[in-house]
Amino acid sequence: MARILIIGGGIMGSAIAYHLACAGAAADVVVVEPDPTYEFAATPRAVGGIRLQHAIRENVLMSLYGDTVYADFAAHVTGGKVSFDPQFRRLGYLFLVEGAAAVAALEENAQMQAACGVEVEVLGAAELRRRYPEFAFPHVDAGALTPADGQIDPNAALMGYRRAAEGRGIAYLRDRVVGLELRGNRVVSASLGSGGTLPVEIVVNAANCWAAEISAMIGMRIPIEPMRRQQFHFTAQQELQPFPCIRHLHGLAVRRHAGVYLSGFTRFNEAGGFNWALEHEVFESFLWPQLAELSPAFEAIRPRGGWVGHYDMNRLDGNPLIDWYDRVPNFLLCAGFSGHGLQHAPAVGRGVAELILQGGFRSLDLSLFSWRRVVENRPIPDDGPTA
Ligand SMILES: Cc1cc2nc3c(=O)[nH]c(=O)nc-3n(C[C@H](O)[C@H](O)[C@H](O)COP(=O)(O)OP(=O)(O)OC[C@H]3O[C@@H](n4cnc5c(N)ncnc54)[C@H](O)[C@@H]3O)c2cc1C
Repeated sequence: MARILIIGGGIMGSAIAYHLACAGAAADVVVVEPDPTYEFAATPRAVGGIRLQHAIRENVLMSLYGDTVYADFAAHVTGGKVSFDPQFRRLGYLFLVEGAAAVAALEENAQMQAACGVEVEVLGAAELRRRYPEFAFPHVDAGALTPADGQIDPNAALMGYRRAAEGRGIAYLRDRVVGLELRGNRVVSASLGSGGTLPVEIVVNAANCWAAEISAMIGMRIPIEPMRRQQFHFTAQQELQPFPCIRHLHGLAVRRHAGVYLSGFTRFNEAGGFNWALEHEVFESFLWPQLAELSPAFEAIRPRGGWVGHYDMNRLDGNPLIDWYDRVPNFLLCAGFSGHGLQHAPAVGRGVAELILQGGFRSLDLSLFSWRRVVENRPIPDDGPTA
């Protein structure tokens, strides 16, 4: 019998399973995941940024733990018959802002990040131009530079966690949860697409963009929905000197990635839901002019295509919900990562395993990401970089 059912075997479900297995609970866990190729899952579609710049202390600390794990993956994620190398590299991150209020917030956030142990420097526009002469930095009053921010191969990280969890005895069932049955206020079984039924004592909803569908099975309405993120890659006629991942508060982002340049676009006000269309005209008419303004080297470029993925966007505040559901106390929601989930998966996997097996967070207090804030309509204030 599966005492603990994890719904969704992406990086979140697999990191949770891995930590449960490390704590000796493997025999009690089953992960239900319908697609071993992860074709539509977010994890393999992620860019792979491990960003230490956040405005919320817990997010910084989760990223720092992600950094520790991904930078030495073979030492931290063990037990698999096959090992995977997520190829961690430090590329740095530069977050740009415009306007006095945004500069003040940037400085305050940098102080908090430094107190957490992050190497961070706030630079004025003139200093930015001196350090990165190939960039014009229009509409920029200051930037925060975190040179140690990393980049990984998301698929290798996912497969590394999954194979390590399996190597430690976790069962992955190739199936889909299509229903959850309640007795009183507890989930007692899950119905599977194959027709089977799985008795359960604890359910973890790690289904990311599908989390709302799963929660709805027990009458829980959550403010999480799929939000399209379009990624475009291009080459430039003139090769630029190495530069950190650049992101402007207004949304423009560019980084060097696997021999090309990469820029992304999210229309935050578009209706939620899956939309797999890649709008090439957005790159041509919206992103490219901004890129050319940022650096003259981006005037002569060649678009090379792109891809679409979806964030599990928490419309309340862009931060995750990692908590038991008060009305069904054996149902744990772990979703809403809103574009940060890859970097936070190691800390979330560890934290959720503690919540289940030890009755509370032990290594890092993640209680800020409570369900209560949805019930009370109390978003976490967050003026940091959006995903
Ligand atoms: C374009 C893009 C770029 C990103 N870049 C970054 C980045 O640079 N850094 C970063 O930290 N994060 C990034 N993210 C976010 C990151 O990818 C996600 O937060 C993270 O991968 C979420 O992992 P997950 O396991 O929760 O979700 P997923 O990988 O989506 O896994 C969820 C799984 O649930 C399964 N499932 C669905 N329905 C059911 C069901 N009924 N029964 C059982 N299983 C089910 C699905 O098949 C899926 O495999 C990015 C995301 C996108 C889309």
